[in-house]
Amino acid sequence: MAFDYDLYVIGGGSGGVRAARMAAATGARVALAEESRMGGTCVIRGCVPKKLMVFASSFRELPAQARAYGWDIPEGHFDWQAFRTRLNGELDRLEGVYRRLLDSSGVEIHDARARLIGPHEVALADGRRFSAKHILIATGGRPERPDLPGAGHGLVSDDVFNFERLPERILIVGGGFIACEMACILQGLGVRVTQFYRGAQILRGFDEEARGLIAEAIRARGINLRLGTDIAAIGPKGSFADGMDVPAAEMQLGLGRATIGAGPFTVQSTTGELCDVDQVLFATGRRPNTEGLGLEELGVGIGRRGEILVDDYSQTAVPSVYAIGDVTNRVNLTPVAIREGMAFVQTVFHGQPTPVDHDLIPAAVFTQPELGAVGLTEEAAREQGPIEVYAASFRPMRSAFAGGDGRVLMKLIVCSDTRRVLGCHIVAPEAGEMIQLAAIAVKMGATKEDFDRTCAVHPTMAEELVTMRNPVRKF
Ligand code: NDP
Repeated sequence: MAFDYDLYVIGGGSGGVRAARMAAATGARVALAEESRMGGTCVIRGCVPKKLMVFASSFRELPAQARAYGWDIPEGHFDWQAFRTRLNGELDRLEGVYRRLLDSSGVEIHDARARLIGPHEVALADGRRFSAKHILIATGGRPERPDLPGAGHGLVSDDVFNFERLPERILIVGGGFIACEMACILQGLGVRVTQFYRGAQILRGFDEEARGLIAEAIRARGINLRLGTDIAAIGPKGSFADGMDVPAAEMQLGLGRATIGAGPFTVQSTTGELCDVDQVLFATGRRPNTEGLGLEELGVGIGRRGEILVDDYSQTAVPSVYAIGDVTNRVNLTPVAIREGMAFVQTVFHGQPTPVDHDLIPAAVFTQPELGAVGLTEEAAREQGPIEVYAASFRPMRSAFAGGDGRVLMKLIVCSDTRRVLGCHIVAPEAGEMIQLAAIAVKMGATKEDFDRTCAVHPTMAEELVTMRNPVRKF
């Protein structure tokens, strides 16, 4: 049977775009459908604008630090509108780059929503239909609000980049990547931030010592971090007073789309407190975009979280249909989606079956300071056998000189038997940059002695990683 294309990609995010380009480079005829802006979550409403906001917010402490170093610098004022205009300009530019990359690779772009109507057939919202030998779903995910009264009043991370003006007070709900990063960013931009996290410590899954240090730093910045506290309901300001319940109409608001700028609100916490804020931001996780794609009708397996079920080669239960990235809810990170896309192309278009290697993926949380991690946490490693823990926590030179008492952490988890470094955990400014390099050594299987025979770079924070002589704990 003759197909219109060799590959039809649904979703123009990091994973979909890379797979489309790499497949087209093999001479395949490729089309890609995107219903929104090219670049997806990472470029348009995730990593990229977030990191630019991290940079914007990090200038807040610079004048004071600079003055301690002898500079005559006055306190500044942050202009959100000016920043947002530049931010939007940058996102437009990047979207253009993505489009040109696809164009120059020979990928046909369809600016429309697509859904599957057969194992080899897609239908676009504009009525067009196409056939393809292979279909790749890379539709990503979206933020999810919890189901509680008045939840529709709350914003999600997508909305933050569209603020007309910054709120004076915000409540951030959640203790994961987005909640912690946004708490630091918004506080740095001058917003009064309260953060509710339902568990005992933020950043579940990361090394406990590192989590503790980040929580300490978050509080030291002035963020009102409330652990063991969740949100029970949101209503317009004044709701819930004298035991008054949330108005019935508000209950209906449920999970609808938020109206930006509609505050102030009164929030009721699970601990029974009331607090008034201008905005509530839910950073309570993301959900794969699988609805309305015609997947279940076709026999593509869908998991409990709404994710597409795939095998090691990203193939679904329908042999011509593959899926990569956040829509498969494996490891929801841009570089992982890209690697899954490349492995898919290697498997299908180069005839070399290539499973995706999900082992030892480094990650960074762009809080201030940052948290970088690769490999096992101390807690997970303890379960696996005898380990030694090497850790150094200290006040870094740059901020200590200026009177800051913030601490950094350099930590290695070492297997007592093989001497391999099983995990590396860094809390420090630029920990994201550092962990990228440490991850190479850890991925190569470096031992503690390999670290030790590497000469230190002095004076740096990271030199501690190669100068820690004695374990602080053994298990
Ligand atoms: P996470 O899964 O990281 O965190 C979700 C948080 O919300 C957790 O603290 C969770 O608590 C809490 N939560 C979940 N459901 C509820 C609920 N019903 N009520 C109250 N709290 C709730 O999700 P994020 O939204 O922060 O980020 C999504 C993903 O995006 C990340 O996992 C990551 O893969 C990716 N990401 C990566 C970044 C990076 O690389 N720097 C930056 C941003 C996002 P609990 O721990 O108790 O489950």
